[in-house]
Amino acid sequence: MISPNNNGTRKLLDQFGPMATDTQVLVALYDAEDRLQFANPAFRSAFFIAADEHPFWADLMRRNYRLKQGTVIAATDFEEWLRSTQSRRGKVSFRAFETDLHDGRWLWMTETVRENGWMLCIASDITRIRADERDLRQDRDVAIKAAHTDELTGVANRRFVMARLEELLAIPAPADQTLGCLAVFDIDNFKYINDRLGHHTGDVILRDFAGTIQAHVRRTDCFGRVGGEEFVLVMPRTPADEAANIIHCLLTIVRDSRPLPESSSFSYTFSAGLAVARKGDTLAEIYRRADLALYSAKLAGRDRLQINIDMPSEGKR
Ligand code: GH3
Ligand code: MG
Ligand code: MG
Repeated sequence: MISPNNNGTRKLLDQFGPMATDTQVLVALYDAEDRLQFANPAFRSAFFIAADEHPFWADLMRRNYRLKQGTVIAATDFEEWLRSTQSRRGKVSFRAFETDLHDGRWLWMTETVRENGWMLCIASDITRIRADERDLRQDRDVAIKAAHTDELTGVANRRFVMARLEELLAIPAPADQTLGCLAVFDIDNFKYINDRLGHHTGDVILRDFAGTIQAHVRRTDCFGRVGGEEFVLVMPRTPADEAANIIHCLLTIVRDSRPLPESSSFSYTFSAGLAVARKGDTLAEIYRRADLALYSAKLAGRDRLQINIDMPSEGKR
């Protein structure tokens, strides 16, 4: 709400509203849950969104893919494309890329993300600008995406998630505020699964795991594969109890997953180690604590979460 003495803000909004309607530039605002909260007419028209519609980004993309309108998505499996894109979408404070529309237009799109997760999208029509270099620029965007993506599972790779963890550790938070948490996940008895069902089935399970988790993490968190059957979840500005709740849900969801249609009773589990970021932590330090917690989750019987809790230096028990 705008208070009566906040005339400056009111004046600004009075100016912004009509201008956002008039401009050819596409403007949209998504909230932290990735639901469209505002879009100007240019944006709504390009992406076929009714004036009173506030869809989730994923639902919007799914609908447009089905109807072959809006963004051109060169993928045969939409859900796989979505999962891969979501593992990188909205994780960095700013990014810019080019995208083409089914109507032949070419857009220069920027995404600006605030720390509360809200995202401003601004796109300009560049159809007529430097068309001769378009292939080159598109190849560059494809290469950037490949450099951030794990090939087997399509989620973010080690390089991308570790960069997000570095950013979390650098959050300029006051001493009483949480920087966030790091969780490491490791699939249980995966060697046995591989040995019993074959490496190919092992890969199917890795993809199921990545897809299942990615579908259930918040956009402000970053999930990725760091190698083998090990994954991490970076949760900026999230206190330990909230992170633990999220991971308990994920443990249940994975436990309930049945990834092999030919063996419908087959299920698998994972273990998780959680560490809370401390001011001044290095990446190696927080990772080591999360790994220690994971190790104790394995020792305690697997299919569970262990939290690395600071051991008090005094006070013997
Ligand atoms: P634990 O419950 O203690 O984690 O036991 P584990 O068997 O999961 O652990 P271990 O680290 O001994 O085994 C991991 C296995 O993961 C061994 C390796 O062959 C397999 N692996 C690593 N990368 C891949 C991959 O890309 N595809 C497949 N199918 N298997 C992989
Ligand atoms: Mg392992
Ligand atoms: Mg394992």
